Amino acid sequence: MPIRILSETVAAQIAAGEVVERPASVVKELLENALDAGAGIISIEVREGGRRLIRLSDDGCGIPAEQVQIAFQRHSTSKLSSVADLAAIGTLGFRGEALASIVSVAQVTVITRARGETAGTRLRVDGGQILEQERVGAPQGTVVGVENLFFNVPARLKFLRSTTTEKRHIGALVSRYAMAYPAVRFRLVHDGRLVFQSPGSGELRDALIEVFGLETAIQMLALGEEDDSEIRVHGYAGAPSLSRANRTQITLFVNGRWVQDPGLAFAVIQAYHTMLMTGRYPVAVIMIELPPAEVDVNVHPTKAEIRFRDKESIFRAVQRVVRRALIDSSPGRPAELAAGAED
Ligand code: ADP
Ligand code: MG
Repeated sequence: MPIRILSETVAAQIAAGEVVERPASVVKELLENALDAGAGIISIEVREGGRRLIRLSDDGCGIPAEQVQIAFQRHSTSKLSSVADLAAIGTLGFRGEALASIVSVAQVTVITRARGETAGTRLRVDGGQILEQERVGAPQGTVVGVENLFFNVPARLKFLRSTTTEKRHIGALVSRYAMAYPAVRFRLVHDGRLVFQSPGSGELRDALIEVFGLETAIQMLALGEEDDSEIRVHGYAGAPSLSRANRTQITLFVNGRWVQDPGLAFAVIQAYHTMLMTGRYPVAVIMIELPPAEVDVNVHPTKAEIRFRDKESIFRAVQRVVRRALIDSSPGRPAELAAGAED
């Protein structure tokens, strides 16, 4: 076969595979956009594990009518204009790929009204093809409805798991964001049933109660805020009595971004040294704030992995803060444990 340049549509569908792996990936991208738009209330409606429908509404800044179509093109973003901006990125998004990827593999309807506009815009895009744009009445903010995900990518459709599995992934994702953004009110409705809601009180403790239940939440210790140089660590760590059989309940955020970092998770586990039985892992929700230049978030298309400039001092700070909270909460602990806190 001769070498040819792929059509825009095929290229977009292939590229979409990196960003949109499953329904939860769509929810993640739409959630991040809503948060970047400054939303205070985010409402998510899902049908059949997200395969039939994912609809996310926010009360954020909205998209001006003349920019709506641009937002759905590849490499279109309002969040950065040069590579240098990456060093100071304060938004969750910046790659300008999510909406373009989603519309290339689903049937999408967006209704949006930007602040200051008198009418809203409704745009329909089907498998990357723009069908129509019209003016409509709409509240300020954005509603993105994603229907029939992977309708034109049968190979991907085949790999989708059961509704229950997809539902679990979406639930876990929304819970995590509710903890990272306690001032935002989240609401998740699955097949017509309200499955999760956070109060948006601004208090992480309130979000923890919704995510873990009161019983567990009251056994979580507030981490003393530590302002060690430029690293700020806060959040909650479960009392040793709250252990689990695996490490999936160690939730980590770096600058408001959920990250999966085995090294950081290990730092948390080490802070429980001698307090947990072997094979048991803690429950923890830990927020790390760093100057943006200290992390490289542009490592992975979904940004779940990041790189730190100075890994060691971040790990040490996390370990120290968790260890101190554990020791402070147990006055009767033997002296050797208290001594361990100093390392
Ligand atoms: P990125 O988030 O990386 O910029 P996206 O493809 O996710 O790329 O979105 C493209 C652009 O569309 C964003 O930069 C933003 O300007 C706009 N946008 C997307 N979703 C929303 C939303 N919910 N509210 C306001 N603007 C949005
Ligand atoms: Mg985005």
